[in-house]
Amino acid sequence: MELDKITLSRMEFEGHTGCFDFEKTNGQKFIVTIDIFIDRIKGCYTDELADTVAYDKVYEITKQIVTSDRGNLIECLAQKIADGVLEYDKRIDKVQVTVSKPEAPVKGIFETMEVTVTRCRKEFVILSLGSNLGDREANILAAEQALKELSGTEGFKYASIYETEPVGLEEQPYFLNTCVGFYTDIEPFDLLDKIHVIENRLMRTRDVHWGPRTIDIDIIFYGDRVIMKPELTVPHPMWHLRSFVIVPLREIKDVGLDHPDDKEVTLYRKR
Ligand code: ADP
Ligand code: MG
Repeated sequence: MELDKITLSRMEFEGHTGCFDFEKTNGQKFIVTIDIFIDRIKGCYTDELADTVAYDKVYEITKQIVTSDRGNLIECLAQKIADGVLEYDKRIDKVQVTVSKPEAPVKGIFETMEVTVTRCRKEFVILSLGSNLGDREANILAAEQALKELSGTEGFKYASIYETEPVGLEEQPYFLNTCVGFYTDIEPFDLLDKIHVIENRLMRTRDVHWGPRTIDIDIIFYGDRVIMKPELTVPHPMWHLRSFVIVPLREIKDVGLDHPDDKEVTLYRKR
């Protein structure tokens, strides 16, 4: 379903964002358009001011950010405005910010130079990581590093690393398992794609498909979303049945769940 949209169109400010010193000292005209997206504005039904976003506040926040910025790029300025608006009102699900610099110091004829960024509210995601091939700890740490380097991930929480008996196919080496949680605005299916890229990068030496793996990364929770597709089922359908998920998961999220096999999971490295 389409989200509801509120638009603050072509607001003009005097700003100082630019790569050249003269831009920072002299200033120039900036034009900003903000589209705010909400999953049903309550005010549509109640006619109450408190049930929608205060346009004047969004205007003031934007003005404050644009007029005080002394950075180089309008890309970064647009990001700051998007962050500021999402932070201001938690009911906003998504924001699109266009920053335009019609007097940009570029030789030639043009109407404007502008950048548009679209940002969603970040949600807290929890992944389960496992490895039982090669340098298991190094594989887990490399996967965590790769997740951290993705644009749009922040606020990482790491559980301890545990050593666990293999489940399912038992004739294979013991696993190291952990969980990692972080905030992200990467949409679930895009996140799954990025996870596959990371897995492939770390799995190059793997040749037995269902056998031991250098790394397995599963999405356990994505905020409180429920996704029921074969390519992606969230919450992960097996998480509550697996001690190797539950034990590290408990360090990140209060899941209030015990499992009879919890004692089979031994602490490998505390963090
Ligand atoms: P497994 O994790 O079951 O040992 P794979 O890592 O090979 O096996 O994953 C098989 C497929 O499971 C993936 O290609 C992915 O599309 C799908 N899948 C479904 N739900 C999830 C989830 N929550 N997290 C990760 N992959 C998932
Ligand atoms: Mg997997």
